[in-house]
Amino acid sequence: MEKICKQCSEKFLIRNEDKVFLENNKIPEPTLCMDCREQRRVQGCDIHFTKHDSGSQR
Ligand SMILES: [Zn+2]
Repeated sequence: MEKICKQCSEKFLIRNEDKVFLENNKIPEPTLCMDCREQRRVQGCDIHFTKHDSGSQR
């Protein structure tokens, strides 16, 4: 399935096997392409615990 990266607006692909893996582990689908995710990891941003990510403000 094809997704658009939130950061750089590049298209990136989630393979079927990746999707199954994500679903099995209850991991939400990534919104960033591989490159941006790698960058974030390098910068030390903890993307696993971003609570204010989906913009559900009250
Ligand atoms: Zn990107």
